[in-house]
Formats: sequence, C-alpha cells, structure tokens
Amino acid sequence: MEETCDVFVLGGGPAGSTAAALLAEKGWKTVIVDKERHPRFHIGESLIPETYWVLQRLKMLDKMKKSHFIKKYSVQFVNANGKLSAPFYFHDNKPHECSQTWQVVRSEFDHMMLTNAREHGVAAFEGVRVRDVLFDGPRAVGVRIQEEGGALREIRARVVVDASGQTGLLMNKLELRVWDPLLDKGAITKSEFDRQNTQCLGALEQVSAAQARTEMMAKSVTDGLVRAPFEGVVSEKFVTPGEWVAPGKPLFTLVDDDPAYDLGGTLTESLRKRITLQHHRCYSCFAYGSSCSEIDR
Ligand SMILES: Cc1cc2nc3c(=O)[nH]c(=O)nc-3n(C[C@H](O)[C@H](O)[C@H](O)COP(=O)(O)OP(=O)(O)OC[C@H]3O[C@@H](n4cnc5c(N)ncnc54)[C@H](O)[C@@H]3O)c2cc1C
Repeated sequence: MEETCDVFVLGGGPAGSTAAALLAEKGWKTVIVDKERHPRFHIGESLIPETYWVLQRLKMLDKMKKSHFIKKYSVQFVNANGKLSAPFYFHDNKPHECSQTWQVVRSEFDHMMLTNAREHGVAAFEGVRVRDVLFDGPRAVGVRIQEEGGALREIRARVVVDASGQTGLLMNKLELRVWDPLLDKGAITKSEFDRQNTQCLGALEQVSAAQARTEMMAKSVTDGLVRAPFEGVVSEKFVTPGEWVAPGKPLFTLVDDDPAYDLGGTLTESLRKRITLQHHRCYSCFAYGSSCSEIDR
C-alpha cells in the first residue's frame, strides 16, 4: 500500500465499496481497507427496491441479474402474535423493473461489491485494520493502519471516509454516537440465546431452592421469634438480645403507627400527637406470651 492517496475508505462493506467505486470512477486515487477477509459473514440480507438505482450507477445490475440470489417482489409484516399483514407488492406501487429486488447472501454480495470497486480502479486491501484516524486540527489527514500481525503504519489522504458500519470508528473517537431509546435493541445468535436462556432458567431454579431453604429455616426458628401483629414503632424495650428471661417478663411495647389513626394536618403538632396517641393500639410482648390492647394515655 502506498503512503498517500486522495481518498482513504475505512471499511469494505456495501457503503465503503460504493463510495470508493464512485470516487475512483471520477479519477480520484482511492484506497479501501477492511479488517476482515472477504467473503466474510454479515447480517442484513433483504434489499429494498430503491437499491436498484445505486446498483445501476455502480454497473452491478447485470451481475445481480446473473446471480443466484432469490428475487424479491414484495414484503409482508408479521405482528407480535404471528398475524400476517396483506402482502405489499412493490410493482403495484411502482410499475418498473426496480420493483424487483433481491434477498442476498451478504458474504457473497459484499464480496461482489468489493470486487466491483476494484474493477473501478480502487486499491482494496483485506486483513488491514485502521487503528486511528489522524487529524490536523479539525481536519482528518490520514489513518494509522495495522496489517495482520504487522507493525503500525501511517497513510496520508486528502479525504478519509469512515464506512466502518456499526463499529463507527470516527463516531466513537469524536463521541458523536447518540442512541435512540426507541430503537435501543440488539440481536443475538440462536446459540447465544439458548445459552442465556439456560442460564436464566438455572438462576430461577436457584432462587426457588433458596426460597425453600429460607422457609425451612424460618420454620425451625419460629419458636424463638416474636412477630408483631401490625406495623409500628417499639416504644419501650426491656431486654437486650441474647438475655435469658423468665416467663412473663415484658420484652417490648410496640405502638401502632397506622396513619388511619392520624387525625390530619390541620391540628397543631402537639395536639395531634396527644389525640393520635390516645387512640393508638399498643402491643405488649411478654416472654412466652403477649397481649394487644387499645390504650388510653
Ligand atoms: C439485525 C440486522 C438486520 C438487518 N437487516 C437488514 C436487511 O434485511 N436489509 C438491509 O438492507 N439492511 C439490513 N441491516 C442493515 C445492514 O446490515 C447495514 O445497513 C449494512 O451492513 C451497512 O453497510 P456498511 O457498509 O455501512 O457497514 P458494514 O457492512 O458493517 O461494513 C463495515 C465494514 O467495515 C469493516 N471495519 C470495521 N471497523 C474497521 C476497522 N477499524 N478497520 C478496517 N475495517 C473495519 C468491517 O469489517 C466491515 O466489513 C440489518 C442490520 C442488522 C443489525
């Protein structure tokens, strides 16, 4: 790879191959690099009719027509319950050859696009990773690349095109990525889904087992626990934890703080306290026995 070029295109997917082919056709010395070696796996197979015009500009139409890719004439939507919409035939909307498009195998399609770029005069290099985009002030002036297992090199360019797809190398470097909360979704492979699903089911079983253990433990200590019959505050405590007590010794007094007993905020603080306390229930707990009463203070 030469040390300089007019346009350096970072990424040899459909976007990079398209930009590079059209620029090289105009006579610009154009270089593409891709970190992968094509054909390489990629997701996103279903083309839309309007790609026809780009494919035409790229002189790719004949190649597409001769390909084994499945011809696509329409779309149909399936809702979350599996219900199918009526099919939408592109030709009904636009009676033109462009209304037939293709369902491509991306590895093959992207390879065809890259080969097509080479045929337009682009120098394309595979297995070469861009490590950084070099700047002179606000202007990109080149890239730092690394060939497989090789040393870092700098290539100077008048223009750098970031076509790195979801990697978004420049977008990340300049912190320009903005996530749309509505579209904040991801896709995982079937095997990854199965792995995570098994992990979740395993976790649920662990939770059930832990709950069962807790219940068993609770049963075994019931005799040593005192359960309050309502929510409240402990107003008096007569023993410290761990202290031995004889039957009948008072342990604590719990005063109900049920807001239903609160007579509202129109009263002064001191008056309210007095009135609500008059109607508070009080729960006195004695060792080996307890009692609950409505008290009048
Ligand atoms: C789940 C899913 C389903 C989709 N379905 C469809 C669909 O049905 N139809 C459709 O039209 N689109 C679909 N898409 C979108 C489609 O995949 C993308 O729009 C398309 O791949 C974008 O092309 P691109 O050239 O911008 O990026 P890419 O195709 O991702 O190409 C980027 C290239 O840059 C290279 N690269 C990245 N970083 C570096 C680096 N540092 N140095 C060197 N090379 C680098 C990568 O190896 C890659 O080859 C789908 C996308 C997803 C996620």
